[in-house]
Amino acid sequence: MIVSKLPNVTTTIFSIMSKMANDHNAINLSQGFPDFPSDPLLSQWVNEAMEQGYNQYAPMQGDLGLREVISEKCGSLYGKHYDPQTEITITAGATQAIFTAIAAVINKGDEVIVFSPAYDCYEPAIELFGGISVPIQLRPPSYVPDWGEVVQHITPQTKMIIVNTPHNPSGSILSENDMLQLQELAVKHDLWVISDEVYEHIIFDGQKHQSAARFEALSKRAFITASFGKTFHNTGWKMGYCLAPKALSEEFQKVHQYNVFSVNHPAQVALARYLKDKDHYLGLPAFYQQKRDVFIDLIKDSRFKIVPSKGTYFQLLDYSDISSEGDRAFAEYLTKEHGVATIPTSVFNKNQEDFKQIRVCFAKKEETLKAAAKILNGL
Ligand code: PMP
Ligand code: GLN
Repeated sequence: MIVSKLPNVTTTIFSIMSKMANDHNAINLSQGFPDFPSDPLLSQWVNEAMEQGYNQYAPMQGDLGLREVISEKCGSLYGKHYDPQTEITITAGATQAIFTAIAAVINKGDEVIVFSPAYDCYEPAIELFGGISVPIQLRPPSYVPDWGEVVQHITPQTKMIIVNTPHNPSGSILSENDMLQLQELAVKHDLWVISDEVYEHIIFDGQKHQSAARFEALSKRAFITASFGKTFHNTGWKMGYCLAPKALSEEFQKVHQYNVFSVNHPAQVALARYLKDKDHYLGLPAFYQQKRDVFIDLIKDSRFKIVPSKGTYFQLLDYSDISSEGDRAFAEYLTKEHGVATIPTSVFNKNQEDFKQIRVCFAKKEETLKAAAKILNGL
């Protein structure tokens, strides 16, 4: 008999909705990925790396050239030096970085505070290593933490807090003050932090990304996780990294070396080359803000209520003026009957609380956004 280690885990909502979109030939604004190609130059450089012979194992921590350019990027953007030799690990996407960080420090009975709606890979990893996830519900429209409430959830067993800014699925961001409060709590209660920053370069309206790297005492306790898939429009490559101080990185790498050992070598060589041109990531806020604004403008006369996203490539839409159905039923109806697939957000909430909000991904070609808007406006 199989005794499941994760009895409550089922297929992710991203797979469910993308499959439903395919089955019903619907426009897929559900799972978060672009429908436009990533830069051909990047693919060409992966090819060149393969031709140049980068086809065997990369070093366990990742290609040194890539770690060096990540270190430079973090230094210039957030004023924090991470040593490429000891404090940076290249991973198979942020998912593996998050899993590995949790595996490295969470023991049986440890409590981990997560903010709901939470990205779905945190909780299963916590449980798998015997930890207990302690959700704190964020609420619309702002979806920002109440730090007084957080204090009330800290117990002697609390070992870690996971934050995500810009935040999937709400599009909210943490302010400098939020990060200072987090820092104070983490220091006072001796907590580790995972700061999931996969959307660090997708932030709008001139706001500054408040990376945990900017805060000295916080960075000493933090695993910062990042995703090239999100930054360079190639989610299928599954490339990312983890920044953490030396002692934490050492523990992280003890797990990493027996989990994957190392990740795709030619992609690392190409990414190292590509990251040298800062425009490749500094242009992203404007690029995605334009898409957000085009989409919002296209549906401004619809019956959906819109709170503009502050970051990520997601936008929440409140459909309570259109239907009183639960969000899963509404998302299913929208996909099957109208041909637009979205993500119901209750699945990420504590006790699946339903705010009647669906998430759309606007990382799409203008023609896709126009075709979807036409349908949404008719509801
Ligand atoms: N964290 C968040 C908040 C995400 O939205 C995602 C999905 N990209 C990930 C982590 C995982 O990133 P990756 O695809 O690089 O594993
Ligand atoms: N990060 C993507 C999203 O939020 C999904 C990735 C996945 O399918 N696991 O839509």
